[in-house]
Amino acid sequence: MSMFGKAKACNSADRSPAGCNLVLLGAMGSGKSALTVKFLTKRFIGEYDPYLEDIYSSEEIVDHQPVTVRVMDTCDQEGPVNSERYLSWANAFIVVYSVDNVESFKGSQLYLQTLALHNKTFRPQTPIILLGNKLDMDRYRPVSQSDAEALASRFGCLFFEVSACLDFMSVQHVFYEAVRRARDG
Ligand code: GDP
Ligand code: MG
Repeated sequence: MSMFGKAKACNSADRSPAGCNLVLLGAMGSGKSALTVKFLTKRFIGEYDPYLEDIYSSEEIVDHQPVTVRVMDTCDQEGPVNSERYLSWANAFIVVYSVDNVESFKGSQLYLQTLALHNKTFRPQTPIILLGNKLDMDRYRPVSQSDAEALASRFGCLFFEVSACLDFMSVQHVFYEAVRRARDG
């Protein structure tokens, strides 16, 4: 699928369907692709090409308004490098880590720092959601909810915890919140 231009602002006064570009960022293995597939198909796909980066498009209705949601499922092997490809394209960012993996949580902080720097110079501000994935693994979780909440509030972002392999509605809710934040910007 080819790259799209930056979507027009998600403006309800617009008569054509609005577009909203969401970018998923985070350490390899945190579950970005599993979450993307879950949002798009309601299904959990356990094994997904770890080196695949792509943009997917889905027609959604959020709060009774049609919106073309485009999801960039990124694949960074070395953290936030070459971020130009998504920084100005995005209408909202979802930074993913895995609650069972401390390294992925540390990785999410690097992304939040990169995005905070971007938001210093870029108007309008691009909303950010911090998302803890693999909540089904929470018996083994080394990353506490309160640590993640503290990180989210430090960077002024929304925070959720979900599991790509559990219920669809919780995953959909996170993507829709990203659309709402982008729209209400
Ligand atoms: P990505 O590199 O961030 O795109 O991560 P993937 O989506 O490829 O997922 C990495 C691994 O974690 C795969 O083996 C997935 O099956 C697994 N995974 C993804 N989401 C979940 C989840 O919510 N719970 C559990 N238990 N495993 C998950
Ligand atoms: Mg992936």
